[in-house]
Amino acid sequence: MALELDARQRAMLEEMHVRVWWPQAPAVVPAEPPAAVAAPVAPPPAVARPAPVVAAAMPVAAVPLSATVPADDGRAAAIAAMDWSALQLSVAGCEACKLCGTRKNTVFGVGPVAPGADAPPRVDWLIVGEAPGEQEDLRGEPFVGQAGKLLDNMLRAVGVSRHGEVRGAQAAFIVNVLKCRPPGNRNPALDEVAQCEPFLKRQIALLQPRLILAVGRFAVQSLLAGSVPDVQTQPLGRLRGKVYRYEGVPVVVSYHPAYLLRSLPEKAKAWADLCLAMETLRSP
Ligand code: SF4
Repeated sequence: MALELDARQRAMLEEMHVRVWWPQAPAVVPAEPPAAVAAPVAPPPAVARPAPVVAAAMPVAAVPLSATVPADDGRAAAIAAMDWSALQLSVAGCEACKLCGTRKNTVFGVGPVAPGADAPPRVDWLIVGEAPGEQEDLRGEPFVGQAGKLLDNMLRAVGVSRHGEVRGAQAAFIVNVLKCRPPGNRNPALDEVAQCEPFLKRQIALLQPRLILAVGRFAVQSLLAGSVPDVQTQPLGRLRGKVYRYEGVPVVVSYHPAYLLRSLPEKAKAWADLCLAMETLRSP
């Protein structure tokens, strides 16, 4: 089933160099070999164009997150009981791992309601990335710069906005697994992920999104470590195309926007992931 796109959405995708497939009537769709996981939309052909320069490289997990050391039970339990305001304050003042010594700002997340509000916003989507980069650290907001622009454009193409200001748009909240920037954009360390994980867990519990889009390996491993036994050893590409669950919330796996900026052919796959997410939201 293909998404219904209007002229503006199609133009937006063309601008992003994402070519979208949808059936022409009468369409003859070539048979494809059976796959373990069927994507709802056939991937369009890749467009060979030079990739834009990306300031931040897409970090790749060097060590499986399954080895993550659990955060202190008492601290995790206290975070699990926090309301939205307390959670924001707790992140802002957190010194639970060494990243507090090098960050300029904590990056709680961004959504249709400015951080600081007493109650979590009502959102349909939660986008989970990895960690703040240099610009995110400076501004205290996730996914800014070129990667953020690409993410916003792709979300807008399916009628989703982080700010919720677009009429009729579904609202998205955007977070990272880590709330502080690893120096030099290095990979997150196991203890850092372990200490920060309770914040993400509580954000999800309070936001109650209808769907989680996990972008990049660290987000996927963090969210699916408890339900997909071999998630640490599987390439991200193999994990795509399925709908997983985190605390009952459907999870769709996709590539990190920073990686997409360097790898144009994967943009088409990311578009298919968004289509899967849309289909999942539409299903009863
Ligand atoms: S990365 Fe997370 S656990 Fe570490 S200091 Fe920042 S908020 Fe605390």
